[in-house]
Formats: sequence, C-alpha cells, structure tokens
Amino acid sequence: MLTESNRAAVIGALQQYWGFDELRPLQEEAIAAGLARRDSLVVMPTGGGKSLCFQIPPLLAERTDVVVSPLIALMKDQVDGLRSNGYPAAAIYSGLSDGERRKIADDLRAGKLRLLFVSPEKLLSGGFIRMLRDLNIRSFAIDEAHCVSHWGHDFRPEYRRLAELKRHFPDASIHAFTATATKRVREDIVKQLALTDASVLVGDCDRPNLIYRVIPRHDRYAQIVQVLNRHKKQAAIVYCISRKDTESVCSELKMRGFNAAYYHAGLNAEVRRKTQDAFAREKIDIIVATVAFGMGIDRSDVRCVIHAGLPKSVEHYQQEAGRAGRDGLEAECVLLYSAADVMKWDDLISKSAEEAGVGEAVRQSMLELLGHMRAYAAGMSCRHGSLVSYFGQAFAKESCGACDVCLGEVEGIEDATVLAQKILSCVARTEERFGVGHLVDVLKGADTARVRQFNHHTLSTHGLLSDMDKEAIKRRIYDVLDQGLLERKAVEANGKSFQVIGLNPQSWMVMRGERRVMLRELGDRHVATSKVDADSWEGVDRGLFEHLRGLRNSLASERDVPAYVIFGDATLRDLARKRPIDVSHLQSVHGIGATKAAEFGDVLVKVIATHCRNANLATNVGTHEAVARAARKSTGASAQKRRAFEMFANGAGIAEVSEEVGRVASTISKYLAEYIEVKQPEDISSWVDSETIRRARPVLEQMGTRRLRPAFDALDGEVDYDTLRIIAAHVEREAAPQAGEAGGHL
Ligand code: ADP
Ligand code: ZN
Repeated sequence: MLTESNRAAVIGALQQYWGFDELRPLQEEAIAAGLARRDSLVVMPTGGGKSLCFQIPPLLAERTDVVVSPLIALMKDQVDGLRSNGYPAAAIYSGLSDGERRKIADDLRAGKLRLLFVSPEKLLSGGFIRMLRDLNIRSFAIDEAHCVSHWGHDFRPEYRRLAELKRHFPDASIHAFTATATKRVREDIVKQLALTDASVLVGDCDRPNLIYRVIPRHDRYAQIVQVLNRHKKQAAIVYCISRKDTESVCSELKMRGFNAAYYHAGLNAEVRRKTQDAFAREKIDIIVATVAFGMGIDRSDVRCVIHAGLPKSVEHYQQEAGRAGRDGLEAECVLLYSAADVMKWDDLISKSAEEAGVGEAVRQSMLELLGHMRAYAAGMSCRHGSLVSYFGQAFAKESCGACDVCLGEVEGIEDATVLAQKILSCVARTEERFGVGHLVDVLKGADTARVRQFNHHTLSTHGLLSDMDKEAIKRRIYDVLDQGLLERKAVEANGKSFQVIGLNPQSWMVMRGERRVMLRELGDRHVATSKVDADSWEGVDRGLFEHLRGLRNSLASERDVPAYVIFGDATLRDLARKRPIDVSHLQSVHGIGATKAAEFGDVLVKVIATHCRNANLATNVGTHEAVARAARKSTGASAQKRRAFEMFANGAGIAEVSEEVGRVASTISKYLAEYIEVKQPEDISSWVDSETIRRARPVLEQMGTRRLRPAFDALDGEVDYDTLRIIAAHVEREAAPQAGEAGGHL
C-alpha cells in the first residue's frame, strides 16, 4: 500500500500527465511495489492498466527504469503516447539513426529519461549491460512477461534469456506484467525471472466492458455483415480459421462497401506491416485475419471482434476477443458457432499431431482444450461467468448484463426430445456409417444418387423431417452432437478410414425415452442494448463525437502517429459530453493532462464551440466544479512549498517534512535544495551528516555542480543524487553568486 504522501504524489502525476483522477484496483499495490523496488508480478487483463504501474514509479522516484517489450511497433507507440503526455521516455532499437541514438545516450547520462524501452535481445547484449550498469539502473519492467513461459500462448526464446537479468543486476528489482491468467504460467514467470519475495498481484480477469455473444452460424457472410452494421466506420477484427477464408470474407465485405483488408501469415512481411500500419492509423476499419494477427496491434478503440470460426481453445478466444475495447469502452465480441468447426479442428489436430510426430498425450490435451471451447460455445450460461470460472476465478455477479444469455437474447429452450429421437433413429437405421450431409438428405427425404445407392429412400426415417429446411436439419444435428448425444467415429471402408456420425449410450437413452432433450429455439435473435453500452454513451453528442474523430485523424496524420496517441475514444466521448469551450475547462476531461491541454486546447475548444453553436448545444457541462478543484490544488502546491520552507527554517528533516506536507521525499529534497539556495543557511548538518559533507564537498568543488553525474561517479555512487543536490546547493552558495545555475543534475 502507498503511504499517504506517496498516494498524493501519484494522484498529482496522474492528473498532470494523463488527465485521470484515480487509480484502478491493484494499480496502487503495483505502484507501491515499484516505488519500494520490490520484485513483483502483476496479472491484469488486457486494458486493465498495466502500463501505468511501471510508468509512475520512476517518475516519482526520479530514476530511469528499463522496460523490456517484445515488439518494436509496441515500444514506439508507447513512447509516442508517453511523449505526447509530456512524459520523458525513449526506445532503443535497430532502426534508429546515429543522431537519435546519440540524443538518447545524452539524455540518459543527464538523467532526463524516466523510461527506456528495449527489446530483450538488445538488453542482453554485452555493451548494453555495461551501459546500464554505468547508469546505475535499478529497476526493470518486463512487459508481456508470459513470453518467458513455454506454457503461455506466445513463448519467445529471446525472452527465456531474461533469466540472466538477475545475474547481471543482482541488486535491481524486476517487475513482470502479463494478462495471462493461468497459474502454471504465473509460477513459471516467477521461476524463470528468478524473482525473490515477489509481490504477486492478480487482478480480476473479467472484462466487464465486453459484450459477449455466441450466435449459431448458418449464413456466415450475412451474419458477419449484420454484426458489423452495428459498428459502422469503427474498428473491427474478424478472425477466420483459414487463410483462404480471410480472403473470401474480406472480398465479400469490400463488395458490400466495408473498408476492409485481410491479414495472414502467408503474406510477406512488408504487406503485413503495411496492413497493420494502415489499421493503426485508421486508414482501414476492418481487418479479416487468422490468429497471426495479434500482438502488435495496439489500437485501443477496437469496437468489435467477430470469430467467424471456432478458436481451438478458450485461451485463444480470451486473447483474441480481448483485443476489443482496450480503452475500457463498450465493445462487442461475437462468436459465430457451428459444430462443424469442432470436427474440422478435430481432424486438423489429429493430422498435425501425426505429421509432427507428437505423442498421444499432446493430442489428447489439445482435444481437451477444444472440448472446453466447444462447451463454452454450446453452453447457455452467462458468458462472463463461464470465462472467469474457466480461468479459475469466482464470478460474483448473478447476471453480467453484458452477454447474450443475461440479456435474454437466447430464445427460450424447447423440449426437442421427439426431434432428437428422429435424428438418432436415422443414424441407427443408416447403421452409423454416414456423415452429416447424407443424414440431412435422408431426413429431408431427398432423392439423391447416394440415397438410392444405399436404398435409404425405403427407410422409415426417409423424409421424417421433410417439413424443415435442410439448413435447419443440419443445425439440429449439430445441436444434438454438441449435447453429446451423438459422436464422431472413424470407420474403415475399402481400406480407408472415414469419420462418420455414430451413436453412444446417451443416444440409446434418448431413443428409449429415458432422457429428455432440450434445445435452443432456432430463428434469428433480437439484440438487446447492454448497460455498458448505454452508460458509456450517456450524455454524449454523437455528432460532435464524430466531428472530433475527424479532427483527431487529421492531427494524427500531421504528426505521423497513430490516432490513439493523440486521444483515446474515452477522451473524445468525454469531450462530446462536457463540451468545454474554454481551455481552462479542459482539465476536467478524462485523459487530458497538462501537456495535451497546452498542445491541443485551442483547436479543441474552437471546434467544440463552433459545433455547439450550430447545433444549439449546452457547453461547459459540469466542468466548473473540476476547474475550481484544480485551482485549489495549484495554490496547494505553493502552500506546500511554503510550509516546507517554514519547517526547514526550524531544522525539520526531510522525512518529517515529507510526512507533514504529503509529498515524496525526493520532491522535498528538491524543495530543500531550493531553500538552501534562496535562504543560504550557514549550516546544513541537520539534513546531511558531516562525514558525507566532508567527502562530497571537495569532489563537487572540483567537478562542478552544474551536472552532478561526474561527482556521483567519482564518489562511486555512494552518495545519492538527492543528497548531492543538497550539498551542491550549499557549495554554490559559498562558491559563486550565480544561484541560477543550481537546480540538479540535468
Ligand atoms: P494494459 O497494458 O493492461 O492492456 P493499458 O495500460 O494500455 O492496459 O491501459 C488500458 C487503458 O486504460 C488505457 O487507455 C489507459 O490510458 C487507461 N487507464 C489505465 N489506468 C487508468 C486509470 N487509473 N484511470 C483511467 N484510465 C486508465
Ligand atoms: Zn452474462
């Protein structure tokens, strides 16, 4: 937990840099671990707010921390985002020019940077380690830490080498971050990174802003279009199982006027990069992709993720669907489900297991994962609850209010025992030797060559479901399969092995009338509005929102950065809700800190004022209170400094002042240096012991006080910067009248 003074400093930074008002659950504990430099492992779902946990500690402690990140694109975007908030950060990667590299090195030496992003390969190269040691780096954040584990979904060999980090930097703290919730991966991360006495913080893995739906698939294109129409001109991802499918779905969407592109591992790297870039920069709305499209998309305003086919595990589903709504706003995740996909995976898994020569145990465990995915898709209980409990957490809510089941979209269940009996007896009569297609023909009463070849038109079950259309019959057979009342079996014929639909003991129980069968009603379902959806649009003028989106787009293009680096959707909505027309009122808007208010304030209020005048809308809605609060706060800062000076005059120590004033020790020690400079006290021994003064003083006199780094090094790092700064202020007072030169090691 944070001390009172640290908490106040964190909230201050949060408002100044990010324009947020409070921490989310767990962020506080994670930040406390970062400040205390205690090893930690933080598990939070995508969009949960992991980044702040490693961004805030170095800011308050005024140190430089290193962040390890797997992809250059991710690093660059994070750095762009941070800089646009006025936060000093940089990334080192192979594409930098010499000039850029030199600038970063200078900034590092001058202690100007709070975060340095690197890839694991770069980090562990000899020269780099030496440089970080020279800089006295003391904390590392490992983003996407599940990449160190074989058990995760995205193992990376170069991450495994991070095991060496503790050997190179035995005194440094390591802070690992991941969204992967399984216990096995968690334990592996702690072990691989050699974390000691780590603070392990596991967040709630539910994503309340996502609306989950599972829709039985019968007309793929039409159903995809229907969902996408609910998210016109917004970012969406459509996942398909095969490369071929991505291409056909994409061309279908384009034909219908959607702005879409496809993406899969078969495309060359250049094309993939361009597509990803165009998506990040809002030049493309929809990506139709295989699972290859994943990490590296940092677009936070994805409003919809559709799975056109079944993923092969719940872990995959969670990952892919999780790319929706990273900005915390409502987003829809739709799984178009057909039991046919289960069969397809079943075959693929067996085939690839055979080809790869992996053992039966691996094949079985893959089939088991598939089984869980199928159970989710075919299940009829709350989707949020199902996912959360799959990952081993309790789901406290009775109804989530954000899934098809809880929203009452899943139509009533009907007693389908007789229907099931008809299907099962058809399987029995045809002697468990056919696939779904032929069974449909027989039940429909079709007159096909194959029906005649086997004399199936003479069976009593021929035409038993002639009043249903073929598609409906097929779906019902799949439903019966999903309930485990039928199963797939391999049979031999003419020396070849075929997969057919067969019976099991459950089937016989149904046929004997010992078991009833309940099935979901067929027919298209209405779509209800969820509370998440309604809440996040509350009070928002949609016209203005769209207008601001356009503005954001052009600001982003001018600066050649992705749009979300300028503002997230949550900020645009808050702007379109509060409609501030004075720059001073912008600080009440979610996601606008001091830097952004200064940079974009004028153009924002101009656009908003014009729009509101034309549309006759109220402005500065509910912003006055926040403005008044901010005014109180800024006088607060100078009052704090005044109080600190008073206390210094009475000889109070840093810890005491920090406690009283509610600011961190490093801030107070800056106040103290300023105090010494201004008030020029004879004696500083109430703050620094005389032995330290005796050692540091001649060094500072010799090396100069403008930059503290040389003195720090000459003293072998044994006197910290805060202390040096205080002694330097004192030395300067005696040495020269140019007080303006004081002020730290920058
Ligand atoms: P993660 O890395 O866990 O996926 P991010 O760090 O990218 O999540 O944060 C997700 C979103 O939540 C971002 O838009 C971020 O700005 C926002 N966010 C994070 N912490 C807070 C907070 N305390 N208050 C408001 N918004 C926050
Ligand atoms: Zn639910």
